Amino acid sequence: MTNLAGIELGGTKCLCVLGTSEGGIHAQREIPTTSPAETVAAIRATLAAWTFETIGIASFGPLDFDPGSPSHGEIVNTPKPGWSGTKLLPIAADRPFVIDTDVNAAALAEGLWGGAQSLDSWAYITVGTGIGVGSIVAGTPLRGLGHSEAGHLRIPHPAEDHFAGNCPFHGDCVEGMASGPAMKARTGQAGPDIDPGHPAWGFAADALAALCHNLLPSLPQRIFFGGGIPLGQAHLLPLIRARLSRSLGGYGTTGRAEPMEDYIVPSTLGAGAGPLGALALARAALKAG
Ligand code: ZN
Repeated sequence: MTNLAGIELGGTKCLCVLGTSEGGIHAQREIPTTSPAETVAAIRATLAAWTFETIGIASFGPLDFDPGSPSHGEIVNTPKPGWSGTKLLPIAADRPFVIDTDVNAAALAEGLWGGAQSLDSWAYITVGTGIGVGSIVAGTPLRGLGHSEAGHLRIPHPAEDHFAGNCPFHGDCVEGMASGPAMKARTGQAGPDIDPGHPAWGFAADALAALCHNLLPSLPQRIFFGGGIPLGQAHLLPLIRARLSRSLGGYGTTGRAEPMEDYIVPSTLGAGAGPLGALALARAALKAG
C-alpha cells in the first residue's frame, strides 16, 4: 500500500490528509484559510512531518491548468481577497503532483470509491458558498479553455422571481440565484435556517434544474449533488427532479434520465468527497509518475 497526501484547499478552511491509494485515511489536519503566504506555509509544515509518495491538490478556483501559460498552477481572478495570482505549485515541493479543482477531484472520488464506479461520464455539482461543477467524460475531467465553470451558466429568469441575483460578474447566473450567499440575500437567513416551505427553495430549485437541463444533453449519465446546501436540505433534490423532468419534456434520449431518483442523486461520499477527492488526484499523480 502506498501513502499519499491530499490537500483540499477551500475558501474558509484547508484539509490536509495522509491516506492510501485505496482511499484509506491515516491522518487529517485542518488549517484555516487565511492569507496565501500563511496558509501555504502551514500546509508545507504539515506535509514535512508526513511520509508519502505523491500529492493531490484540490483547490477552489478558478485555476489555470495550461502548462504553457505564465500563470500555470495559479488561482486566477478569484473574488476571494488576496488570493488572485496565488501560486499553488510550491505546496507540492519536489513531489509528483496533480492539481485540479475541488469539484473535479470530488467527481473523480465518486468514480473510484462512490456511486459513479460503473459510469463513463458523470457530473458532480456542489452548492455552498459558490456553485461548482465537475464534469467527467470517459473517466477524465473535462478541459477546454479552462475547467468546467458551469456554475456560471446563464439560465432563464422566472418572471415571478424578483430577486436580481448576486453573482458579481453575471447577476442571475446559476450561482447568483442558488448559492448560499444568494439564499442569504433572498431571505436574510443562512440555508440551514430557512424553512423548507419557503418559496426561495423553489426558486433555487428552478436554477439548479436549469443547470442540470443544460448539462444533461451533453453527456452525464448521472448527476451527483454535494456541498452543505443539498446534503443538509433533504427537500431540495425532489424539487429539482420534478422541475428537471418537466423541463426536459420527454425530448429524445433524455428519457433515459428517468427515473429521476436514480439520475439526480446526493453524493454517496458525503462530506468525505473533499478529502477523498484530493487523494484521488494524488493517485493520478502516482500513475502519471
Ligand atoms: Zn456568475
